[in-house]
Amino acid sequence: MPSLIFRKGLDLKDAVAGMLAESYHSDIIDRIKSADFTYRTGRLTVHLAREFGFCYGVDRAVDYAYQTRKRFPNRTVYLTGEIIHNPHVNQQLRAMGIQFLSDGQRGIDSLGPEDVVILPAFGVTVAMLAQLDRQGCTLIDTTCGSVLNVWKNVRRYAESGCTSVIHGKVWHEETQATASQAVGYGGRYLVVFNTGEAADVCAYVSRGGDPAAFLARFSNAVSPGFDPDRDLQRIGLANQTTMLMSESLEIERMLKVAMTERYGEGALGDRFQAFDTICSATQDRQDAVVALLRDRPVDLMIVIGGYNSSNTANLARICSASRPTFHIAEPDGLVSAAEIRHRLPGTKSEVTTSAWLPAAGPVNVGLTSGASTPDNLVGATIARLEAFCLEEGFANSL
Ligand code: SF4
Repeated sequence: MPSLIFRKGLDLKDAVAGMLAESYHSDIIDRIKSADFTYRTGRLTVHLAREFGFCYGVDRAVDYAYQTRKRFPNRTVYLTGEIIHNPHVNQQLRAMGIQFLSDGQRGIDSLGPEDVVILPAFGVTVAMLAQLDRQGCTLIDTTCGSVLNVWKNVRRYAESGCTSVIHGKVWHEETQATASQAVGYGGRYLVVFNTGEAADVCAYVSRGGDPAAFLARFSNAVSPGFDPDRDLQRIGLANQTTMLMSESLEIERMLKVAMTERYGEGALGDRFQAFDTICSATQDRQDAVVALLRDRPVDLMIVIGGYNSSNTANLARICSASRPTFHIAEPDGLVSAAEIRHRLPGTKSEVTTSAWLPAAGPVNVGLTSGASTPDNLVGATIARLEAFCLEEGFANSL
C-alpha cells in the first residue's frame, strides 16, 4: 500500500494555535520587541537582536507536529529524530507521547501502515524516505522549503554531471539528506566543513595529488566510489542552510580560484557552478547580530540554542570575534550571578565559567537565539539575568 504523505499541514492550525502559544510564547519578548528591542531594569540593559529565535521552517515543523498529534490521537506517532535541534522543544514533543526512532526502541524496518512518522525540517535521506514509503507509513513531511531549494540545486548538478561540493557538517542530518540527493540522482558529492578542508581540496584541484591520501582525508565525506581525479573536474557548490555565510562565500571564492588555475578562466562556465543556498532566516539572524554588535554598547553576549544547532553555533562564532560570548543550551545555563555553564564557541566543550557577570555597575547584555529556540526560553533567560542583577553583592549602583 503506498504511503499517505501530508506536506501542507493537516488543516488543524487553529486547533493547535493555543497549545503552541502556551508552550513557546513569551509576553516579555513581545514587550521588548515593541520597546526597540531593549529592556532596562536597574543596572541591567538587555539588547535583543532584531531577528532571533524560531525561523519560518521551524515554526512550520513544530506546528505540523502538534497538528499530527491532534489528528491521530490513537495512533503511534514517531519522529525520525529530533524535529529541530532544541532540547526543550523535543522534550515537549516527548511529553505529548511522540516517540523518537533515534532513541532506538523501535527500528524503521518494523514500521507499517498503522504508524505515523513526522519527517523533520532538515529532511531525511532519499533511502529513508523510500523505505518509509514502501512500508506504507503515514508521513508528515515538514522538510523546509529552503532545504528543498538546496536539493533542487544538487539534483541539477547531478543531472549535469557536476560533483556537488557541499559546505556543511557531514554528521548533520541536513547535509546527509542533501548528499543523498546527489547520489539518488546519479551524481557524486564531497562535503567540506571549513576553509581548512576547502584549502586541501583546492590544492588537489589546482596541482593534483595522491588520490589515496585525499580519500583518507575525506573518507567519510565523499560519495561511494569517489575518484578525486575524475570527480573534481566539474563541480557545483551548495551549502547546508545554516552555515556561516562569510565562510561559504570564502570557500566558493577559493574553489573558483583553484578551478581557474587548473583549467583557465574560459573553462569556468562549464566546470564551476555556485548558488548561495544559505537560507534567508539564517542570513537574517547573522546580519542582525552583526548589527547589534556594531550599533549597541554590548559588554557581553548570550546566545541561546541547542549545542547541536548549527545556526546557533555560528551565531556564537560571530559574537565571540568581538565580545565575551556565552552559548547556553537552556536558561538554567545561567547557574548563578557568579557562574555560567556554556559551550565555548567553535568547540564541542561545555565549560563552567566564573565571574562572567560584572558584580556591580551598569551592564549591557546582548542577546540572540538560534532558529530552533522558542521565545519562552529567551524570556526565561532575561528573567534570570534580571534576578541576578538584583542579588545582594550584585547591587544596583546606578
Ligand atoms: S534554518 Fe532555514 S532551512 Fe532550516 S528550517 Fe529554518 S528556515 Fe528552514
